[in-house]
Parts: sequence; C-alpha cells; structure tokens
Amino acid sequence: MFTAFLIKYAEIGVKGKNKHLFEEALAQQVKYALKRCEGEFKVSRTEGRIYVHALSEFDYDETVDNLKTVFGISGICPVIDVVDEGFEKLAQTVIEYVDRTYENKNITFKVNTRRARKNYPMNSMELNMELGSRVLDVFPEMKVDVHHPDVMLHVEIREKIYIYSIEIPGPGGMPVGSNGKAMLLLSGGIDSPVAGYMIAKRGVKIDAVYFHAPPYTSDRAKQKVIDLARLVSRYAGPVYLHIINFTDIQLYIYEKCPHEELTIIMRRYMMKIAERIAKENACLGLITGESIGQVASQTVQSLAVTNEVCTLPVFRPLIGFDKMEIVDVSEKIGTYETSILPYEDCCTIFVAKHPVTKPNLNIIKRHEKNLEEKIDELVQQALDTDEVVVVKW
Ligand code: ATP
Ligand code: MG
Repeated sequence: MFTAFLIKYAEIGVKGKNKHLFEEALAQQVKYALKRCEGEFKVSRTEGRIYVHALSEFDYDETVDNLKTVFGISGICPVIDVVDEGFEKLAQTVIEYVDRTYENKNITFKVNTRRARKNYPMNSMELNMELGSRVLDVFPEMKVDVHHPDVMLHVEIREKIYIYSIEIPGPGGMPVGSNGKAMLLLSGGIDSPVAGYMIAKRGVKIDAVYFHAPPYTSDRAKQKVIDLARLVSRYAGPVYLHIINFTDIQLYIYEKCPHEELTIIMRRYMMKIAERIAKENACLGLITGESIGQVASQTVQSLAVTNEVCTLPVFRPLIGFDKMEIVDVSEKIGTYETSILPYEDCCTIFVAKHPVTKPNLNIIKRHEKNLEEKIDELVQQALDTDEVVVVKW
C-alpha cells in the first residue's frame, strides 16, 4: 500500500552550512542502503526533508530494515502519496488509509494537516476538521483527542498529497561522511567492530587496518576480519581495509625485548604503523576497541604508554564499557557470531604468562632501543605489504 517513505532526521546541531552537508551525506547513505533492496527508488530532498519514492514494486520489510542501518535517520515514515483530485477523493483516500492501517478502530486520533502548497482551496484548520469528521462518520468507534492521540494522522499538501501516521525509529546519529574519516584498528575480536560502528554512528567515515602474522595466524583469521569489516560496512558504507604483514616485527620484538613487555611494545608499533597509513589516507584519528582494565594492555598505565606514540587523536568509544555491554551492542549490530569464531589472533600467539600491567614509559623506551638496528626497515617493509581490500555490504 505504501508508495514512499519520509525520512526524518534530528536537526539539533545541524545548522547553516553544515545542514547542507548533513543532508547531502544522508541522501548518499540512503541511496547506498537502498541499492541492496529489491526494487527501484528515487531519493529526493525538498524543503528540509528527504523522501524515498518507490518507482517499482518493492519489499516493504526489506526496505525498512535497510533504512534502519542509515545513521542520521531518526524516524522512517511509510507514506502514501496521491495526486490531488479534489477534497472528496482525498477524504476517501484518508478513510481507506485508516481502515487498512488500523485493524482495531478503538483508538484516538488527530488529523494534522500541513499546507505546503498555499493555493489549496481549504486551509489546514478546515482540512483537519473536515477530514476528522469524515473519518468519524465511517468509524464511529474512533475518537478525537487533540492532546495525546494514539494516532497522529499527517496530511501534507504539496505538489502531491502525502498521508502518513507511522514512524519507525531510525538508528539516530549522524550520516557517515558528515564528520571526516578515521582509521579503525580492526582485529578479529568482539570489541573493535563495535568501536568502528560507534564512531561511524557519529558521522565518521571508516578506513580499517588489520595486522596479521602469517604463518602464526591463518588465512581463516584474515577472512574473519574481512567478514567483520563487511558487517561494519552495512552501517558505515564501503570500508577500505588495509592488511599489513606484522610477522617480522613481532618476531624481532620477541627476540630483542623482555617477554612480559612484548604485548605493550607490539601495541605501540601497531599504533605507529596505523597512524602512518591513517595520515596517508586523510584520516583524522585512530579508533580502537580498548576499554579500561579489560586486559593487561588496557590498564590506564598501559593505555598511556600505547597512546604516547601517536600524534593523531585516538578514539576509544568503548573505554568505559563493561564487556557485557559491548557484547550487547555486537549482538544488536550482528557482529557477535562472527567475532566469536575461534581463529587465532596475532596477539594471542606471543602473549607472555605475566605481561606487565603497569608499564613504565622510560623502561619501555629503553628496551625499545634494543630494536634500533632493524626496526625502521621492518616498519617500512611492513608498510610495503599493505594489501587493500575494498569491503562493501
Ligand atoms: P578486540 O576484541 O577488538 O580484538 P581485545 O579485547 O582483543 O579487542 P586487544 O587484543 O588488547 O583487545 O586489542 C586492543 C585493540 O587493539 C583492539 O580493539 C583493536 O582496535 C586493536 N588491535 C588488536 N589486535 C589487532 C590486530 N591484529 N590488527 C588490528 N588492530 C588490532
Ligand atoms: Mg583482540
């Protein structure tokens, strides 16, 4: 029955020049989401609103599900749009709409007309009254409640006439592309895909980097990360995933540094390399899935030592989350099942039995001096292995 969707977005903080960027990015993301839906659609922006018009048959549930992945949307209103053929015809259409949409007529309602086309022969007050009384004539069980109606029946008089009353909540946030780009350190775990999702939700476009360590980590582990990037791209748009061979650096650190400091030193090199790739790709920040105290390398002391190598800001959206809270989000966004597949991670292979939990920066730096001879060359070699996979939903 529905022929279009009105896309609502929260306008708070979206003013002036930003508003244009915001709407542009939103329309772009809506198109990206619709591409994977059955049917043909037209996305248009008029008078501070975005409409999706179906140009062919379409699958309602599939379309709504995909629109729900677009950050920036606060509400999705399924609409019927009809050509203006006079008041009688409009009243008829409204009655049919109510009949088909609300099986149970034991409801209160209010008609809310908006007359964007001022040459319509009745004003909005008259339309509210007249349409309301026509509905009551046909469905006497229904009642008008102007203050807290169960159903707000919107009638918008434009070039065509739009009727809607349902608003399906969208994901909120801001459209991807409206807030720059950042580089996600994406591992095969539960946390980093969630971190990427959360930053993308603030309108930030995401690139990603994965450090693998063949033959210590398998192709299946790498495929798992590609799969996770794909799940994130459902919300974040296409993701450029950089895959970096980290084996030689890891082995070199293993050979030259105290084993209980291996993880923290390795983390510092991951951040360093991620930052190099980020800067080459116009990313303005790094994103990790770290959360205070989750593991030895995420105590506040460890985070400070890791952070020290970066000049870009590091976004850690999960910093104050409990593991259970992170798991909840990952289940909601559909990454959990993939994240818990058992393939090894490059961090788990070289972990010491008793990693330092309160690393001292000066001591770490002193031990990193052991790496002086070859590390710059190894970092460059690692950067040269960069394999870029473009991942799309
Ligand atoms: P996750 O669940 O995201 O793997 P984790 O709890 O296993 O996190 P760590 O292994 O300490 O935590 O990693 C902390 C963060 O460092 C990860 O959230 C991720 O952002 C990044 N990271 C860890 N390993 C890799 C890797 N192999 N490639 C890219 N980034 C990584
Ligand atoms: Mg991990």
